[in-house]
Amino acid sequence: MNVLKFGGTSVGSVESIKQVIQIIEDASRGTESTEGRNIAVVFSAMGGVTNQLIEIGRMAANGSLDYLDLVRRIEDRHFNVVKAFIPVKEQSKVFANIRGVINELEDLLRGVSLIRELSARTHDLITSFGERLSTLVMSECIRSRGLSARFCDARNLIKTDAQFGQAEVNYPLTNRLIRDYFANSNSIELITGFIGSTEKGETTTLGRGGSDYTASIIGAALDADLIEIWTDVDGMMTADPRKVSNAFNIPTITYAEAMELSHFGAKVIYPPSLQPAFARNIPIRVLNTFNPAHPGTVVSRNADRRQYTITGISSIDDVALVNVQGSGMIGVAGVSAKLFGVLAEHRISVILISQASSEHSICFAIDPRAADRVKTILDEEFAADIASGHVDNITIERDLSIIATVGEGMRKSSGIAGKLFSVLGKNGVNIVAVAQGSSEINISIVIAKTNISKALNALHNVFFQSEARILNVFLVGTGLIGRTLLSQIRSQFEYLRNEKMLKVCVVGISNTKKMLLDPKGIDLDDWRERQLTEGVTTSLPAFVEKIKSYNLPNSVFIDCTSDKDIVQFYDSLLDANVSVVTPNKVANSGSYAEYRRLQRTALNRGVKFLYETNVGAGLPIINTIQGLMTAGDRFIKIEAILSGTLSYIFNTFQSGKKFVDVVREAKEKGYTEPDPREDLSGQDVGRKILILAREAGFALEPTDVTITNLLPQPCLDAPTIDAFFEQLDANNAYFESLLTEAEAKGEKLRYVATFENGKVTIELRSVGADHPFYTLSGADNIISFITERYKDRPLVIKGPGAGAEVTASGVFADMVSIGSYLG
Ligand code: ADP
Ligand code: ASP
Ligand code: MG
Repeated sequence: MNVLKFGGTSVGSVESIKQVIQIIEDASRGTESTEGRNIAVVFSAMGGVTNQLIEIGRMAANGSLDYLDLVRRIEDRHFNVVKAFIPVKEQSKVFANIRGVINELEDLLRGVSLIRELSARTHDLITSFGERLSTLVMSECIRSRGLSARFCDARNLIKTDAQFGQAEVNYPLTNRLIRDYFANSNSIELITGFIGSTEKGETTTLGRGGSDYTASIIGAALDADLIEIWTDVDGMMTADPRKVSNAFNIPTITYAEAMELSHFGAKVIYPPSLQPAFARNIPIRVLNTFNPAHPGTVVSRNADRRQYTITGISSIDDVALVNVQGSGMIGVAGVSAKLFGVLAEHRISVILISQASSEHSICFAIDPRAADRVKTILDEEFAADIASGHVDNITIERDLSIIATVGEGMRKSSGIAGKLFSVLGKNGVNIVAVAQGSSEINISIVIAKTNISKALNALHNVFFQSEARILNVFLVGTGLIGRTLLSQIRSQFEYLRNEKMLKVCVVGISNTKKMLLDPKGIDLDDWRERQLTEGVTTSLPAFVEKIKSYNLPNSVFIDCTSDKDIVQFYDSLLDANVSVVTPNKVANSGSYAEYRRLQRTALNRGVKFLYETNVGAGLPIINTIQGLMTAGDRFIKIEAILSGTLSYIFNTFQSGKKFVDVVREAKEKGYTEPDPREDLSGQDVGRKILILAREAGFALEPTDVTITNLLPQPCLDAPTIDAFFEQLDANNAYFESLLTEAEAKGEKLRYVATFENGKVTIELRSVGADHPFYTLSGADNIISFITERYKDRPLVIKGPGAGAEVTASGVFADMVSIGSYLG
């Protein structure tokens, strides 16, 4: 015998009922590949009906007649099913049956609205109509398919105590009644889920989601071979698929694991349902009505070996935490007994308990709806202890959630808690309380409700690593570098996912005109069109606010602009646990205090602030300095040619050439700024060497940088670019003399930035053949470090230090390194 149970969504619509009927037919008659077998089927109310009945009860108790309309809607839904499946000439009889039940409900509601009172007993009676109606309709539909089937009201079989809302089952009596009933059955029994009755015959319910429980009670009483829970997902998943989009199926799971997951919110199976099946060792299979070919999940005593240490993650979105603390509790026996005794007496269910070993405080999580009541009860119970100062005031924290990581694989395996705390820490999720049972198959944490989605996704990402970790990227600036970066992300997407287990998801793109945000990710094939059509007018503060409010795990903000205003947001982004990557030098070349502040914030928050491309584009300069610093080296001197433009100009300026022609040529090749004086002023080089000196551990301010002017005054004063070129020509003799002087010594002119003895100088110098800069060519950058460990011969880095491709790939490398760090 198999017991099948169909949930609310499975019997929620005509379409889904078509599937259900097919599944029942296949199970009882068999298919080409399977044999038919004995089955009993349990039904939930049609999806949403139980909630509506609760609402209806509330309306009636308030004296509002609006409930009539809702009752009508419920009736219509059932009528529509009849119309879809039952031959026309048989319909009227079924309509009459439904009408009969609805009349009973209406009589009851009339009574409620007259006395304006809704007792727990009446509440259960009202909600029982959902299952009674759905099962009635389903029985008619199934019978009309020619199957021999019988409607069974579970109130005649499942006997409970009188705790309305969540009644306890009287197993000896219930088991006997079920066995007797089935002993005389020779057709498919179609049973109302969720409901039972007291010995006096009052209707009770087994708790929300209780139809699963009905199936398990019946399965256990009959010693069934299998209990099938048919729902709307492919079995139990590693997390709630509504909250974690890449959750996946768990093929096999133990009763204990399923119990922990469902206790902590995995609604797919109602926790008490596991007990009867577990006691009789009956496997439960969770299956998808909408994808019946999927094998779903088997819950049984043993699970297959798995690839992951944890089995699943679940959450309860809304809990309150009660804190009982006080110096008088230390070492005093019986405080917990008293506390939990009184809670049990009032039937308050405690979801999680955590007590520090000092015994100074105990905190526990409860349903927030019970919080006020608990406070009153405990204030009363501990009144004397509070008055004497042994116990402080009892406090309640609200707007919290619980996340539980569950798995047999966690038993005796180290590092799980470390991983859990580290990933939450890096994502800025504060942990309010923690509990781990000694069975070690569950670690539960209490966090702020606002962080629930971020925490679930971040944890799922690290614990189920065979799927890629997700990096959520927000890009500002779609100029040459930003655009190139996006196309690099696009072309490397598959590689990163397959080889680095990293999925780069671009969530926001903004330029000076429009910004586009989509938490599901923006397709990089047509981001430009989408930005134009769907983007809204750019507002940087709004963009930054969105980044924060999305609160996505592993968020990275990439600033591909040279904008001065953007950098003011870096600190608050880092503070909100968003990493920042940028080629923009502005933040790091302002005041030293600002530079330090960003470093500190990133460090405190456990996120990254990366700016390798501030100097020398993609060349590994800043990483090299940081590596040397970390290893304890000390910097003595840095010499560098840090401008591709100036590098090109002085590599090209040789005897026989006029300086003005060289500059003009550089401009024509696009190497210079529109006004070449911006390059020749040395300001940009100044900012770069300042950053390098800071990275090397020196607290320099911009005023510590001395730039020796390269251009004669009239060139600087020229009002237009053309006039500037004229002045360069007019001053040719000056440049000529610099060159001749250098060449006479066998040296070459180089525009060099130097850091030494705490000072930065930038000047045009001539260097001899023994200097590493002598052989420089093209527009290359070169940096030479003399440190305590690289004293005799300097460490030199050389190569192209400008250009969109190499800059974007430097930004790309920084971005990817965050993925592995956060992972
Ligand atoms: P039914 O109406 O069939 O009883 P429920 O809504 O009670 O269905 O339970 C199924 C839902 O449980 C799924 O749609 C899913 O959103 C949710 N759920 C929560 N956690 C999990 C999980 N770990 N695995 C599968 N489903 C889950
Ligand atoms: N119909 C009930 C509820 O919504 C029982 C169930 O669906 O399992 O809670
Ligand atoms: Mg359910």
